[in-house]
Amino acid sequence: MVNYKDLGLVNTREMFAKAVDGGYAIPAFNFNNMEQLQAIIKACAETKSPVILQVSSGARKYANQTLLRYMAEGAVQYAKELGWEHPQICLHLDHGDTFELCKSCVDFGFSSVMIDGSSLPYEENIALTKRVVEYAHQYDVTVEAELGVLAGVEDDVVAEESHYTKPEEVIDFATRSGCDSLAISIGTSHGAYKFKPEQCTRDPQTGRLVPPPLAFDVLAEIEKKLPGFPIVLHGSSSVPQEYVDIINANGGNMPDAVGVPEDQLRKAAKSAVCKINIDSDSRLAFTAAVRKVLAEKPGEFDPRKYCGPARDEMVKLYKHKIIEVLGSDGKAE
Ligand SMILES: [Zn+2]
Repeated sequence: MVNYKDLGLVNTREMFAKAVDGGYAIPAFNFNNMEQLQAIIKACAETKSPVILQVSSGARKYANQTLLRYMAEGAVQYAKELGWEHPQICLHLDHGDTFELCKSCVDFGFSSVMIDGSSLPYEENIALTKRVVEYAHQYDVTVEAELGVLAGVEDDVVAEESHYTKPEEVIDFATRSGCDSLAISIGTSHGAYKFKPEQCTRDPQTGRLVPPPLAFDVLAEIEKKLPGFPIVLHGSSSVPQEYVDIINANGGNMPDAVGVPEDQLRKAAKSAVCKINIDSDSRLAFTAAVRKVLAEKPGEFDPRKYCGPARDEMVKLYKHKIIEVLGSDGKAE
């Protein structure tokens, strides 16, 4: 049994309370390799932003769970080395699907876990979430639950159709499950193809897809039912078109990749939404930089020569999100 407090990590409780009061959101960035983790920590240390490091079950399979946990421990030390005196770093399991997986993460030094029972019938979702909460709270580990279904693909989680969270269910769900935060569905979606072209309109000038707006009316109703309760948005990458263009200009093929516009996320961050998940955008930044280097220098074979620029591009992206979209800069001095 490893307690996250011994690793210098924090849970989400205080982070979220401050974010709800302060009208900003905490970035939740996924990582599964060293360059991504370096970029996240550098961006957060330079902006003094609290951060949630997310590990999905796909990342555990890809990078090995033991290695990832030691990397997170190393991240705390790296942050201090960069001059961030009191790093606020949470290590979070993204989309845990069983009690056993959540328990193993709690036992292994995670400070927060998500139990995603959103595909289960309502009562089963409550029962599973409650079981995880009862275990996790013994060790002061916070628990995120999900109500409503997001469309899109994330690792092993695939859903064709989304179902908005029903505001009339949230009080009962939060009270009976005991969860610390709630991921809701208001039109965001996993992956780099968040909206089908037929759901969008097209900008007549650029020909680009313009996605439908998020359901802010549903969010407002949820906030009214659960005042001050931490709300989480998954699937909130913006799919920056400049990265898609670089990828497509250098041998890639990503037609009609589209995400959630940043002005919508900015609006959400000011509300009870206090955790915004961003994964695809960093994948795009990484891939765009790698493709560009390899297209320009076909003889290059040193991974540092293309992973280095990819890391720099991700630092830029993360800082942009923190400062321009979420407003979490300067909140963890
Ligand atoms: Zn998600």
